Amino acid sequence: MHASSRARYALSLLFCLLILPVLLGFQDSSATLTVSKAELEKHLRFLASDELKGRKTGTDGDHVAARYIAEHFRAHGLSPAARFNDFFQPVPLERVQPPARQEVKILGTRLRPDEDFIVMRAQSCQIKGEMKDPEATNLLGAIATIGVDSPDTLFESFSGISETLAKRGAKAIIALYSSGGWDGLKGFLGKSRISLKEEDAVNRLPFLLVRDSNGALLSKLRAPGDHSASITLSEPRVESVASANVIGVLRGRDPVLKDEWLALTAHFDHIGAGRDLPGATPEDSIFNGARDNGMGVTALLAAATTLSANPPARSVVFIGFTGEEAGLLGSSYYVQHPAVPLRNTVFVLNNDGAGYTDTSIVTVLGLDRTTAKPEIESGCRQFGLEAFAGGPDLQMFFNASDNRNFAEKGIPAPTFCPGVRTFGEEILKYYHRPADEADEGFDFAYLQRFCEAYALAARLIANRTERPAWTPGDKFEKAAVELYK
Ligand SMILES: [Zn+2]
Repeated sequence: MHASSRARYALSLLFCLLILPVLLGFQDSSATLTVSKAELEKHLRFLASDELKGRKTGTDGDHVAARYIAEHFRAHGLSPAARFNDFFQPVPLERVQPPARQEVKILGTRLRPDEDFIVMRAQSCQIKGEMKDPEATNLLGAIATIGVDSPDTLFESFSGISETLAKRGAKAIIALYSSGGWDGLKGFLGKSRISLKEEDAVNRLPFLLVRDSNGALLSKLRAPGDHSASITLSEPRVESVASANVIGVLRGRDPVLKDEWLALTAHFDHIGAGRDLPGATPEDSIFNGARDNGMGVTALLAAATTLSANPPARSVVFIGFTGEEAGLLGSSYYVQHPAVPLRNTVFVLNNDGAGYTDTSIVTVLGLDRTTAKPEIESGCRQFGLEAFAGGPDLQMFFNASDNRNFAEKGIPAPTFCPGVRTFGEEILKYYHRPADEADEGFDFAYLQRFCEAYALAARLIANRTERPAWTPGDKFEKAAVELYK
């Protein structure tokens, strides 16, 4: 064989073995397409800039962040979801001011607003009635009264029971709260706040949270005697708030697996700016949210860049959520109005965090709770990172981000977080503080490895043959059986 034809042969062999598969998109599933540090730094510096003023839900900063994400999706060839106009899913929100007039009397004692009770939902009313257990046979004209011993059960009962009790004739609901953290609840619930517009306003019973530290009220109600209460509230001021989730889709390349969807999610809202926010100083009152959750959004954008360049087997829906800091509102709306059916959404890899203290790891809340652990670990390992499941103190944060709304529907949904070993002092320096900025104190080299690990873990999950699932025995397994039956 002639020397030059041997060289040509070698070249064409090289082309077939290495370059052609890349061009045709048949890369090995573990192949990594990287994103430059400069591109990632640009995303983060923009999202966490002072000009976006902390991206509070419903503000211009929130809208501009949403626009930035949408245009990134467009630039990388993602499509809007079917039936959607462009990349935006408007989320109907409202801001409710507490009623100006709040008078509450229980068993003859007048209670003080904020100190003794918080109005969680109001309408103009003047009610006098018996406080009754919701199990009572006749609730007509009564004030249904429940005992609540943790914030979790509070939110469950708040969203769950109103309609049933309204139908049975109850006029209001009182939750007697015997757990701690009253001041925190007061700060969060007692002020004007944003919530999802309730679709069924007819069943909006006034809902009061009453402090019952030692359970004294609850035991009085369980004994015979006076159970009377009166509630007078003026109409609260309600105004609409405009905000939207951002959704882009990428169809998978496998003819069968493309009907299964992986959802990649990160919230882009943060807590805003203002001298009145805890931690604000005269020098700095903008809560930039670089770590929370500029990093997560940057990872989402990185995944859109790399996955769109070489689509995986399964389809992927990329979602930027609004309203997370206001109570997981964007994701809560999404699971009620999904862009792709939830029963076809086989996995969610959420991205959220408070900050990092260890740049050799990624903390993955729920790592041990799904069968996608090997893919997540391997995605991290390729960038020199260890996937860390977190100790017992971190496990409660599984419920603190948008993944929770998916998990409750049955979808396996861990959260990828910047590396923390424990939620301590070091994290609190940045968590919901003006110091959470994309400045010289920020580790952009870690940002790159973090984002690439996320994008690769996503690719590996979207390519694996077997559908990922909850680890057998997980508390959400029952919901999964119901959803995917
Ligand atoms: Zn967050």
